[in-house]
Amino acid sequence: MRPQTLAEGYDGRSPFPETATHPPVNAAQVAVTTAIVVAPFLALAVGIRLAWGTGISVTDGLLAVALYLLTGLGVTVGFHRLLTHRSFTARPWLRVALAVAGSMSFQGNVVDWVATHRRHHAFTDRPGDPHSPYRYGTHLRGQLRGLAHAHLGWMFTDDPTPASRYAPDMLADPAMTRVARAFPALCALSLALPFAAGWAISGGLYGGLTAFLWAGLVRVALLQHVTWSVNSLCHMFGDRPHPTRRHDRATDLWPLAIVSLGESWHNGHHSQPSCARHGRAPRQVDPSAALIRLFERLHWATDVHWHAPDGPRRDGLNHRRAVGGLHTLHPPGAGRLDHRGPPRR
Ligand SMILES: [Zn+2]
Ligand SMILES: [Zn+2]
Repeated sequence: MRPQTLAEGYDGRSPFPETATHPPVNAAQVAVTTAIVVAPFLALAVGIRLAWGTGISVTDGLLAVALYLLTGLGVTVGFHRLLTHRSFTARPWLRVALAVAGSMSFQGNVVDWVATHRRHHAFTDRPGDPHSPYRYGTHLRGQLRGLAHAHLGWMFTDDPTPASRYAPDMLADPAMTRVARAFPALCALSLALPFAAGWAISGGLYGGLTAFLWAGLVRVALLQHVTWSVNSLCHMFGDRPHPTRRHDRATDLWPLAIVSLGESWHNGHHSQPSCARHGRAPRQVDPSAALIRLFERLHWATDVHWHAPDGPRRDGLNHRRAVGGLHTLHPPGAGRLDHRGPPRR
């Protein structure tokens, strides 16, 4: 049965319909999952060390970092905080520039990305959530399967998110639909840029090819896994200091704070989705919020929401602005959510 159908019969209290009563995740499972997630990154570090001087250069590394930041901030500041949650208002050129930068991350076109993420907030960790790690229940097998599903398995399921329902504002914006249509070309550009830069800087084809490998393909892979980890790990491991809607298990996961550019303060984000800062405590490093602050100082960003007006609420009404007023007009647990009406701010 499709998640939307299941959500209609959901009472807001029970486990997902397919979930039996099982014990929570245990320490052994945490260790195994952590090893699965961390080991490939350690292998990558060893590979870089072995290839250093022959298969990878300083130029490749610098280009990789630069393009990681450009495309990553395009996703976090542009796709997520600006376009999905409207945490601030950007100058039109900046809005387009951020949408273009995010599109170069190979994470889907900007309209579909926004629609899918708004649906995630509307149904967080309940039936209807496109990528909840609790989809298959809370027993050991279900949690492992759910992690894989939330990380990337969901992209292989036939469960489309209609942009007409979740992102009508994006569809009504000609600049955004143009950027969405240019998605394949922007992906090609995302790989062509490091190749051309590597060739130009090194003066040889080999330098272009290694830059294409490290600052192109490997950089794309790393950012994708970091973004997907926010969907998977940041709904399962970490702290939950802030109140969120019922069933919402988003967590703050500090080890990912820097590489995720502040997005792994995911419990803070789910507690106040329209807030421009996800790291709610001063010590919580949030590079994306710092960039928005810079934009604000330059007067490129206005109406920045540094704090939700009335603080976090358990009833989810704060999400109204966050998801464009589309989904939270009913209190959580009402069994259905309202998809009618235009997006409101
Ligand atoms: Zn989430
Ligand atoms: Zn969000």
